[in-house]
Amino acid sequence: MANQRIIEEIEDFLYEKVTHHVCNLCGGNDWLIDYAEGYNCSILMVEHNSSNTSFGIPFIVTECDNCGNIRTYSLRAFEKWRNSRK
Ligand SMILES: [Zn+2]
Repeated sequence: MANQRIIEEIEDFLYEKVTHHVCNLCGGNDWLIDYAEGYNCSILMVEHNSSNTSFGIPFIVTECDNCGNIRTYSLRAFEKWRNSRK
């Protein structure tokens, strides 16, 4: 499971990189905030073992709590952003 620190970093990443935070399906702003105030999507992160990509491309998932719309983001992009901040 992703820990709270990673979740916060993902939130920072999405705040910086994603400019449209309104759900494109239901259009509302009444999103559930699961992990931190101010962010409007639930966040899950697929466990990532870089030596084993047989299951596909590792990614981050955000889910609209209202309608269940799911967005995915490449973990590569997150890690690139994360490394650039160090
Ligand atoms: Zn929605």
